[in-house]
Amino acid sequence: MEVDGSKENACLEQCASLAYPMLSCVSERGVIMRAMAVLPSRRELRIVEVAPPTLRGTGDVLVRVREVGICGTDREIGAFHYGTPAEGRESLVLGHEALGEVVEVGESVRTLERGDLVAITVRRPCADDSCLACRAGRQDFCVTGQFRERGIKKADGFMTEMIVEDERFLVKVPTRLADVGVLVEPLTIAAKASVELAAVIRRFPWEPVGLRALVLGAGPIGLLGAMMVVSRNVSATVYSREPANGDRARLVRSFGAKYVSAVDVPISHLPTKEGLFDVIFEAVGNAAVAFNALQALAPNGVCILSGVPGGSSPIEIDLNCVMRDIVLKNQMVFGTVNASRSAFEESVRLLEQFMTICPDAVRSLITERVSLDEAPELLRQPGGIKQVVAIAA
Ligand code: BGC
Repeated sequence: MEVDGSKENACLEQCASLAYPMLSCVSERGVIMRAMAVLPSRRELRIVEVAPPTLRGTGDVLVRVREVGICGTDREIGAFHYGTPAEGRESLVLGHEALGEVVEVGESVRTLERGDLVAITVRRPCADDSCLACRAGRQDFCVTGQFRERGIKKADGFMTEMIVEDERFLVKVPTRLADVGVLVEPLTIAAKASVELAAVIRRFPWEPVGLRALVLGAGPIGLLGAMMVVSRNVSATVYSREPANGDRARLVRSFGAKYVSAVDVPISHLPTKEGLFDVIFEAVGNAAVAFNALQALAPNGVCILSGVPGGSSPIEIDLNCVMRDIVLKNQMVFGTVNASRSAFEESVRLLEQFMTICPDAVRSLITERVSLDEAPELLRQPGGIKQVVAIAA
């Protein structure tokens, strides 16, 4: 059991107060919480016991974790391909897509109060003075690579009962989004992409009209990305491997996007069958799909890459052709990683909008909810669109 003993007495006192009436159990070692962790050096993925966190500074907030979504990154960490425990620790608590409820706030906290729902941002800034991005609070643009990511890199995540975090890294979520608020973090990817895209589009001395967007992939990021495109009144086509008469295709059509299955249209036939697209939003994490799809990118088009491919085996792509097109057609390809507070705020705003336009489609993105005890099994067996670990109601 990884328990920070120095904090135990403080914990016991706090547990006796109103902060922890709901924790799992009291053992001879004090009050403990359960957490879903990976122990990479032992190649173990299991529930561990950890000491409840306490407020360390006046800007800290104690949050009861309600729900945590599972994504491809978590699965890679669970398979020991990715993920680094904090300095000197053997285990890393998983989970970075979290919705929680504020239980207690430090005395200088101004924006949150007990009972508020919050999404918890993932990336923490590096300590290097020369990193302008981190110093500006934009650790999503960190240049040193020394940032930490909760649940991913050198900092525990949220698949546990309680966490403590600085107010700056918590973003308020309206209570009316309680049943879908766990989608705020994955939606930040599309939210940031759209802000960047707006900046790119400003390069034109005219207002573009009739834009067409292609979304690659019908996983949670692709589907949320497609909803975002539709909410902007831009025509969206989702291209993915699931069949055209399947559930995902139906879901895509239900919120006003078109669905094209890779089973019916090979990627090389996309331009002739579906025409060219001004924007491609890639959400498959597969380089062959992403770069082959550039054939369907229109002149002056923008391709946004958001998936993180695993593996390192070389693939064959005609890069001369890709580069020729990028130059002669003024095309742009850029990558984007989520993380900034502003992306989380924009994501909350977008989610509210989606819940007005297509609430059923948004709800149906969450295909399974399991308990914390069932989380290790769920991580080993992917399925559905967004699987969620429900920790507290
Ligand atoms: C997370 C990002 C993170 C990335 C790479 C994604 O799943 O959403 O916050 O930067 O993984 O670690």
